[in-house]
Amino acid sequence: MSEDTLDKLSRAGRVAKLAREFAMENVIAGGSALELVIAIEEVIRSNGAECAFPVNIGVNEVAAHYTPSKENDIEFRTGDVVKIDIGAHIDGYPGDTAATVEVGTRNHSTLIEAAESALEVSMEMVAPGTTVSAMGETIERVIKSSGFKPIHNLTGHSMERFNLHAGLSIPNVKNWDRSSIKEGMVLAIEPFSTTGRGKVEGAHRGGIYRLMRDRKAPPEISTLFSRIQSSFGGFPFAGRWCDDLHPDASSLLSKMVRIGMAMSYPILIEAGKGAVAQAEHSVIVTRTGCRVLTE
Ligand code: MN
Ligand code: MN
Repeated sequence: MSEDTLDKLSRAGRVAKLAREFAMENVIAGGSALELVIAIEEVIRSNGAECAFPVNIGVNEVAAHYTPSKENDIEFRTGDVVKIDIGAHIDGYPGDTAATVEVGTRNHSTLIEAAESALEVSMEMVAPGTTVSAMGETIERVIKSSGFKPIHNLTGHSMERFNLHAGLSIPNVKNWDRSSIKEGMVLAIEPFSTTGRGKVEGAHRGGIYRLMRDRKAPPEISTLFSRIQSSFGGFPFAGRWCDDLHPDASSLLSKMVRIGMAMSYPILIEAGKGAVAQAEHSVIVTRTGCRVLTE
């Protein structure tokens, strides 16, 4: 890996960490999720990075893929278990990190600590040759020994430039994947613990989109497609980000989804409506272990 690439990854990781710390201090009962994500995304940009995806807010049984918007905002309440998942990138090199906070109460501290210690212990295993299944087995063991379930259909992932899911998945349970970790890989490791069934299901749209394929379409749709492509470079984006790109963005975006030029991520909800906690860091695999980019 070149010095330049390493420098960009390190800076992106540092900005993602700053944004995560800002986020954790600013989740308050009665606060608007939309106001918070706008402030977090501003922290990312004012520190010289761009968003690698919209800030995800997951409250209680919502595990992932919701970002607030003007049309669909939520207010934090006392007792909520709030996950905030943040991506920053510099020149396409991403840092991905998440943490969980409980608003004003301490009913779910052990659930949150289970995800955090699964992350710590699994990061210590990272080295060339470690199989992803062995990492999943460790994450599963740590979470179960705390009395909770890991979410078996969410995974960590390898990352590359402008690519958040570069092929390798890091499961939260033991599986049959014999793939192993290699020096120079950039990995996001993200254990999820839950009081529920240990599985997520897709529900309605959560405000997060990704471009699919360009195709022949009415001119204003093609215009929006290319503006999204040049603004967000293939990374996921928020519907609310498109308002600056075209006056009619929201209806054009719905049309793009209908004709297969874009896809909308479904919100992922715990199947037993259990509370969900998440902890995530990005690491770079070194010759003997790893360097954490987001701590
Ligand atoms: Mn993440
Ligand atoms: Mn991730």
